[in-house]
Amino acid sequence: MTQSRHAADPAPGAAPHSGGANRVHGVGEGKQSMDLGIQGETAIATSGSRPAMAGAAPLLRVVDLHVRYGEMEAVRGVSFEVRAGEAVGLLGANGAGKTTILKTLMGLVPASSGRIEFDGQPLAHRPGWERARSGIAWVPEGRRLFPDFTVEENLRAGAYPRADSDAVARELKRVHALFPTLGTRRSQLAKTLSGGEQQMCAIGRALMGGPRLLLVDEASLGLAPIVVSRVFAAIEALVRDGLTMLLVEQNARQALRTVSRAYVLEAGRIAREGPSAELAADPAVQRAYLGS
Ligand code: ATP
Repeated sequence: MTQSRHAADPAPGAAPHSGGANRVHGVGEGKQSMDLGIQGETAIATSGSRPAMAGAAPLLRVVDLHVRYGEMEAVRGVSFEVRAGEAVGLLGANGAGKTTILKTLMGLVPASSGRIEFDGQPLAHRPGWERARSGIAWVPEGRRLFPDFTVEENLRAGAYPRADSDAVARELKRVHALFPTLGTRRSQLAKTLSGGEQQMCAIGRALMGGPRLLLVDEASLGLAPIVVSRVFAAIEALVRDGLTMLLVEQNARQALRTVSRAYVLEAGRIAREGPSAELAADPAVQRAYLGS
């Protein structure tokens, strides 16, 4: 089967709407927002906190994943899972293999062995566009916006597989409610946005497809601490709404405040895993990742 380049290589963040109908991140619309446009914690009304049920089936299951770049094995037998409605962290230093795992999940880098299942179905041999269509969206490291497209064009690019224009319009409203600054800057070229605004636009683009699983790669990268707090306020609102998320972060302190569980990756292997509070209290994690 021949795929167009566009179809075979999903736009970062693109995923179709499928399980996002329960998300209500738009209902805070009209309430006061912070100066960068992120709705405050209380401004995002939700149907209540929805921590993942311990017994919930994994939405994503990765078993004994190995990934090689030529001779170099970047991922060495990694297993983890993310249950529906859960936010899970994948932490680790530079070069630990975090981005490689996300690229493998998106079908951009091949696994050399191991199994990846999404919603109980194996992902192997499914091209990236099909993974996006099944509900996996990716916010790539460095945002990768289309620099000469406007904010709105970038957002709409994230909805590319959706045919339902009403659903796209509704999703755009929700994204604007979460990030009001993206509404006021809808005609501005992406390359002229601040780093924080670009990160919001990248997250917004990923949300436009109504993903069932959001993969976020280094949302804090290169941002000032105050901006990191604002971007994470929005991520936390999405988590409270019950969006299933895999958060890749070098900023372990921030990530552990946001996710309920995390895996710590070292040189391509899972070195530690557990509930966020336990990891944050672990002296080895504190020494290596929390600067204490
Ligand atoms: P960072 O946060 O710095 O991106 P990371 O944990 O995401 O770190 P990866 O980017 O997954 O780490 O890189 C894991 C290892 O794979 C590193 O040693 C890196 O140099 C190597 N690597 C990544 N991409 C490639 C590539 N395209 N070709 C060869 N080696 C690569």
